[in-house]
Amino acid sequence: MAESKDYYQILGVSKDATADDLKKAYRKLAKQYHPDAQHTEADKKNAEAKFKEINEAYSVLSDDTKRAQYDRFGSNFEQAGFSGGSYGSYGGFDGFGGFGGMDIDLEDILGSVFGGGFSSSRKSSGPTKGADIRTTLNLKFEEAAFGVRKEINVTRNEKCDTCNGSGAKPGSKVITCDKCGGRGKIQVTQNTIMGSFATVRTCDKCSGSGKVIQTPCEKCSGKGTVRKNRKIEINVPAGIDNGQAIPLRGEGDAGLKGGPNGDIYVVVKVGSHKYFRREGYDIFANVRVPFAKMVLGGDIKIPTLEGEMEFSIPEGTSSGTKFRVKDQGIPILNGKGRGVLEFVVDVDVPKKLNDEQRDLLKKFAESFGDEVNVKKKSIFDDIKSKFN
Ligand code: ZN
Repeated sequence: MAESKDYYQILGVSKDATADDLKKAYRKLAKQYHPDAQHTEADKKNAEAKFKEINEAYSVLSDDTKRAQYDRFGSNFEQAGFSGGSYGSYGGFDGFGGFGGMDIDLEDILGSVFGGGFSSSRKSSGPTKGADIRTTLNLKFEEAAFGVRKEINVTRNEKCDTCNGSGAKPGSKVITCDKCGGRGKIQVTQNTIMGSFATVRTCDKCSGSGKVIQTPCEKCSGKGTVRKNRKIEINVPAGIDNGQAIPLRGEGDAGLKGGPNGDIYVVVKVGSHKYFRREGYDIFANVRVPFAKMVLGGDIKIPTLEGEMEFSIPEGTSSGTKFRVKDQGIPILNGKGRGVLEFVVDVDVPKKLNDEQRDLLKKFAESFGDEVNVKKKSIFDDIKSKFN
């Protein structure tokens, strides 16, 4: 016996979810797990099982009557003596008769939720757009800033050149699909705790077209497409930022039956920089400046994206002062000019002074009338000497 399913948990909603909550949760999950949205066979397999479950949960919970029945009896099957019982014997339960033989059309459910557009690719026997492919590209900070030419590797479905995408062995005939009898749909009976669901699905043999080719193309086994590994050169534009995607139109999976190809989205991941932090087109750094230079002012070296440059700080600059240099930031994506380089000066306090330097600094401080008590010994040495 199948385990009792928690439909609320499957949809990730609470028991008091409103119709709107259910619809939102369902829409999100159905999109995520739609088999057409998966890229690998393994993903597809996992997604299909999950997709089925989501549909089952939604078809019950979105119907007030069925939901009430589920809420009432859903968790009491074991106590009610149903463990090990046959799924067909719900007739004794008032209200459960309605579940037997219930017709659920997945595409109809999807159509009602997504406004029809969603299921068109499954239902359609006509041209279908190929799937989009998402891939990640790691870039160095500078590569993203100034742009770079890169090569990416993708595995995609390409039109089979033997059959020109038709899936038919050249010269072979197209016949009516024997699996669905040309209807394009098949009925599958599914046993669940709620009874038997007769689920109508798109025929997998003809993909809903009702027609199959007599002799499939040997190269692509009738699919019309073949998997190919491709290296694609791309121009990464200057100024691109972490998380942004470069679209490569028409470079995704091949379309079916003359449909357009999908696209590739290259999502960039930008590495960090030794000195700079980036915010939009502006870059930020901290620069350590010797104490004397802060006091006297003058030229300091600051890091730039290209290397370094001289920058003149005024006399009496205090630690924490911010300076902005125009046009030394990141080049504007698809535009002109560059962002700002902003740096904060931190005083570089010398850790060790020799005797001469210490005397000079002492004299310097005294010149302001400050009392400077430069200790050569630590306070602990004084305490220790008292006990000796
Ligand atoms: Zn072929």
